[in-house]
Amino acid sequence: ALIITSECINCDVCEPECPNQAISMGEDYYVIDPARCTECVGHFGEPQCVQVCPVECIPVDPAHVETHQQLERKYVMLQAAQ
Ligand code: SF4
Ligand code: SF4
Repeated sequence: ALIITSECINCDVCEPECPNQAISMGEDYYVIDPARCTECVGHFGEPQCVQVCPVECIPVDPAHVETHQQLERKYVMLQAAQ
């Protein structure tokens, strides 16, 4: 999963781009739900939030480093839960 850092300027552009509804407004700035972030695996070739973020504040979450296979599995689980 990816994580939004405190450099976020709350510009709102990433939230509607997420295919997994993983992004929401947190207490001070936007946050990503790691249980819903597949790094866009299953939907797009590149993380859509990273593509649109103007301040490049969305790195890989060091607490949630996942393999491509794990991300694919999460994608399948999320699709099944819909
Ligand atoms: Fe959503 Fe993709 Fe960004 Fe993860 S990488 S938060 S799935 S847009
Ligand atoms: Fe924050 Fe970047 Fe999302 Fe804008 S696009 S709300 S700066 S994380």
